[in-house]
Amino acid sequence: MSNKPARMIVLSGPTASGKSTLWRHLVRHPQVTFSVSATTRSIRDGEEDGRDYRFISEEEFLERKERGEFLEWAKVHGHFYGTLRSDIEEALAKGLNVLLEIDVQGAEQIQNSGLPFVSLFIKPPSLEILHDRLRNRGTESEEEMALRLKIVEEEMACAENYDHVVVNDDLEQTIAKVEQILGLEVPA
Ligand code: 5GP
Repeated sequence: MSNKPARMIVLSGPTASGKSTLWRHLVRHPQVTFSVSATTRSIRDGEEDGRDYRFISEEEFLERKERGEFLEWAKVHGHFYGTLRSDIEEALAKGLNVLLEIDVQGAEQIQNSGLPFVSLFIKPPSLEILHDRLRNRGTESEEEMALRLKIVEEEMACAENYDHVVVNDDLEQTIAKVEQILGLEVPA
């Protein structure tokens, strides 16, 4: 991958598909950096402001959106999320591949951005397994969980718009498969 020009790695998939675990592995590669999105949702246990997301108010988000600071943005599960244009331009200028863990609406905007990208959609093995994973995670209220599950099927229907679709039934295998797709060397 180091011989190829830098590009965005767009990673999408339904809630609890294992995307977060996957991106944490992928950014261990020196050629890959993570795009830290801005969001208006509240911080969860185990998350760090500035590492997982930039947690900002809705007022700040809308101001920055008006100023055109977002390369893409979307309202997902009732909260705003956006990728900062400056982060992406800086990473690409440094020759780094920049990983965006974003939803299907955002991915569509990236596909139309004119910037280089490769897109991957991560699927859970089945909807039942996804329900169990979400329940076991226990980070969402019943109401929020119902909202997330409602749009899962819609999201799954967008998989065909991606360059690659990977079913995450075994994390180790999924990581290896994605590294192979991206041409990443396994870190020592
Ligand atoms: P979560 O709140 O569970 O971290 O993320 C909820 C959804 O928002 C996920 O589908 C995630 O991919 C998406 N998301 C996170 N950051 C961004 C972003 O910057 N832009 C867009 N469009 N979606 C995002």
